[in-house]
Amino acid sequence: MAVSSSAPDPWFVALFESASEGLLACDPAGRVVACSLEAARLLHAEPGDVQGGRVVDWITQDACEHVTGAAAPAGLGLEPGDAFAREGGGLGRPLDLRLTAVDTPSGRHWLVHLRDATQRVKAEAHLAHMANYDSLTGLPNRLLFQDRLKQAMKRARRSGTPMALMFLDLDRFKLVNDSLGHEVGDRLLKHVATTLTACMRQVDSVVRLVDQEGFTLSRLGGDEFTLIAEAIECAEDAALIARRLLEALHSPFRSGDEEIVVSASIGIAMYPNDDVDLDGLVRHADMAMYRSKSLGRGTYSFFSDDLNAAAAARLSLESGLRRAIERQEFQLYFQPKADLHTGEITGVEALIRWHCPGQGMVPPDKFIAVLEETGMILPVGAWVIRAACSQLAEWDRMGLPPLRMAVNLSARQFRHQYLASMVADTLRENYINPRRLEIELTESLLMEDNETNRGMLENLSRMGVRLAIDDFGTGHSSLSYIKRFNIDTLKIDRSFVQSLPENNEDVAIATAVIALGRSMRMNVVAEGVETQAQADLLRQLGCDEMQGYLLGRPMAAPDLVAWLQARQRADAARRGAYGASIDPMPLVDLGEPAAAT
Ligand code: C2E
Ligand code: MG
Ligand code: MG
Repeated sequence: MAVSSSAPDPWFVALFESASEGLLACDPAGRVVACSLEAARLLHAEPGDVQGGRVVDWITQDACEHVTGAAAPAGLGLEPGDAFAREGGGLGRPLDLRLTAVDTPSGRHWLVHLRDATQRVKAEAHLAHMANYDSLTGLPNRLLFQDRLKQAMKRARRSGTPMALMFLDLDRFKLVNDSLGHEVGDRLLKHVATTLTACMRQVDSVVRLVDQEGFTLSRLGGDEFTLIAEAIECAEDAALIARRLLEALHSPFRSGDEEIVVSASIGIAMYPNDDVDLDGLVRHADMAMYRSKSLGRGTYSFFSDDLNAAAAARLSLESGLRRAIERQEFQLYFQPKADLHTGEITGVEALIRWHCPGQGMVPPDKFIAVLEETGMILPVGAWVIRAACSQLAEWDRMGLPPLRMAVNLSARQFRHQYLASMVADTLRENYINPRRLEIELTESLLMEDNETNRGMLENLSRMGVRLAIDDFGTGHSSLSYIKRFNIDTLKIDRSFVQSLPENNEDVAIATAVIALGRSMRMNVVAEGVETQAQADLLRQLGCDEMQGYLLGRPMAAPDLVAWLQARQRADAARRGAYGASIDPMPLVDLGEPAAAT
């Protein structure tokens, strides 16, 4: 070998050849004048092959991003940084490349130092994969999703071809995780990823002009997946894709003996139709997904401006309620119930009110559903039970006749395993006989036939707490449930009472419900009684009790006490005047207290 035309020093040759780093000596024109053994190995060649050729015929930096930026020496054509050996017309081994200038009388020569970069490049690729892909499903993660979405939005803007962003959230995934364990949950997520990926591969038969490259399926975390569908023709194509995805998910997933049928809710935002930035588009798809959830799950919805306004209002309601819990802005009102035959006040129903700063008194219809959906019903519902019981105890101490207290309970509260023990503790602390507490349940709760509900109802009933079915007739109660759960009271919904006595159909319904209640030995209460004619007919039909504006509106505790006392005084006066055997107390001889709702 030779490094110049004069004979080389043997020591120098030995040193050069045995260097652990690959070394190439190049002349000012970039020709290789000497090649060490290690350099030949890295280039997958013999030293003799490399010597004499141009260094750029053996090494390339074309595909490399990480070069130092220092200008490549003119004759050499390489610069320090990443490089690749050229091999068979393509890229060979990755290399780290350094340069040392060697000035000689015949000009500037170069010593090219080469090191094998295979391990480093592999490690970097692994790290990059970990940073960009979800380790469970192998799908792009949130980071890569955002990057892809940015690029896709740019392309859609430039080309004017619409793209769709879809948010897909599995329905009731938490239930699978909680009941079957995280391992099954993880397997289910993998199954979903595979199913969706396979479905996307077939989807081009459904949607015309779709470029397969134009789909990015990602997992953002938990059970949240997203799909970017580029270059679709119109919103209807997006709907088709969504339908396909939902259908594909229906294929059952097996875990041991269990067969789980997955469903999902999808929200779709179109771009550039929805004229927003990246965060806005993501928010729109998310809102649309929540709309699908509220429509009963297993479906897809598009984002629209109304949805935006509704979502903003909903968001502010939600944060208002969180504040209300912290600042204790809730209050209980109490609406009396009376025996239709004796006129005696039998009890009250506790009804929640929210004093919202700036909005005044907000009725429960406006916020109970949000409390339920967000889970805030648990602390609020527990507060209602405690406040109602302690109020009852206070009335006992004041010497009021022993009233019954009815409290409304949401289905969601039944999932709380401590509900029964919380009720028991509250009753004990307030020295209240459980028979004086009545829990009003909706028919939908009774229809949800699951272990939890069944167990909870049995616990409450065993404890002695009375159970009532609220708004009876609006849901789908089955008689077997009523029998099974020892229901004490049926409350006929206001909608069947309001057209009495004129509407024949409602008369027929009221007659039937009362007969049913009596035959099953239940107490029948008519809700929303507003006129004396309604009360008279209901009494005639054998209804036991009534509740409604005719008797009294829901009132704050001090107003209710004043109302009861006035009623007692009037009653005593009547007895004094006419003797003990008088007709039942007229229901509305006292005048209504100020409207409180
Ligand atoms: P509900 O349990 O069926 O309560 C009866 C509703 O009818 C009350 O409305 C009451 O003010 C109203 N009402 C009573 N008599 C009449 C009448 O003669 N005419 C008319 N037009 N309306 C009458 P409110 O207080 O707005 O409560 C609405 C619903 O909110 C309740 O219906 C109940 O389902 C729910 N709710 C109230 N408080 C609570 C609570 O603490 N927890 C839960 N989970 N739900 C509650
Ligand atoms: Mg009720
Ligand atoms: Mg009701």
